[in-house]
Amino acid sequence: MYGLKKRIVLSDVEPSREIRGFLVSCAVQMMKRRPIIGGNWKMNTDVESGMLLAGAVADHVGTCDCCEVVIYPPFLYLQAVDSVIDQTSLCLGAQNIWHEANGAFTGEVSGAMLNDIGVSSVLIGHSERRHVVGESDTLIAKKMKTSILDGFQTVLCIGETLEEREAGKTLEVVLGQLQTGLADVAPAQMQMVVIAYEPVWAIGTGKTASPEDAQSVHKEIRKCICGLYDESIANTLRIQYGGSVKPENAAKLFACQDIDGALVGGAALSADSFNAIVTAACESYKAQEV
Ligand code: PEP
Repeated sequence: MYGLKKRIVLSDVEPSREIRGFLVSCAVQMMKRRPIIGGNWKMNTDVESGMLLAGAVADHVGTCDCCEVVIYPPFLYLQAVDSVIDQTSLCLGAQNIWHEANGAFTGEVSGAMLNDIGVSSVLIGHSERRHVVGESDTLIAKKMKTSILDGFQTVLCIGETLEEREAGKTLEVVLGQLQTGLADVAPAQMQMVVIAYEPVWAIGTGKTASPEDAQSVHKEIRKCICGLYDESIANTLRIQYGGSVKPENAAKLFACQDIDGALVGGAALSADSFNAIVTAACESYKAQEV
């Protein structure tokens, strides 16, 4: 009797499947994406300056919840930095990961090791790994899979070189890297993924993509995610921009509809600059109307 009553109630008041789908899609479109700011320290700092920098960023971030902030110190300083930011809302990230769990992989670091020392986010496929070290799309896809299975927020970095841009191949390259990087990522795992669009020609060069150029690539990335997965995943996915982001250009980039924060290199080495970028992201988030 209870079951029957329950069935009648459900069929009487519940919206049809089509209307439910429509309502979910409206809700997703109205949802604000919380910006994420990453500070990629690359092979910089030493133990003392790293701890001081992390402390100054943690103090600035405080208990702010309108922006997620992650710092990516060199592997060797992760533990020391963690001791400074452990009880704060600043998150600890690693610049790389190896895709095997353990074994004869000299010089590499596994997900279990990163988990051991408090890392919660991992960068994969940074342009310096692709173009300086020579990591392939296949290796990057393996790392994506491992990083997600090991429970990390996983940031897939993609971007075209100047040569590729000038040859009109920006979207071909960027969307190709996106698809191969996500080849083994299931829809349910996409909540652990962040995409960082970083045109290679803008990284560490002082040249930034214009907000319009960056926005148009971000929009195509989101469209591609919609095709690979669905609209709800595309609308909730955060896409960071990276490439010479500084306090002077951050606000204009963050005002773009599909730019959800930044991955910052050079400017992340100064607490003043990085903190100003974090503030710009918070302000842009608060200014968004829903
Ligand atoms: C980066 O390392 O990801 C980066 C974007 O560097 P920079 O901000 O120095 O261009």
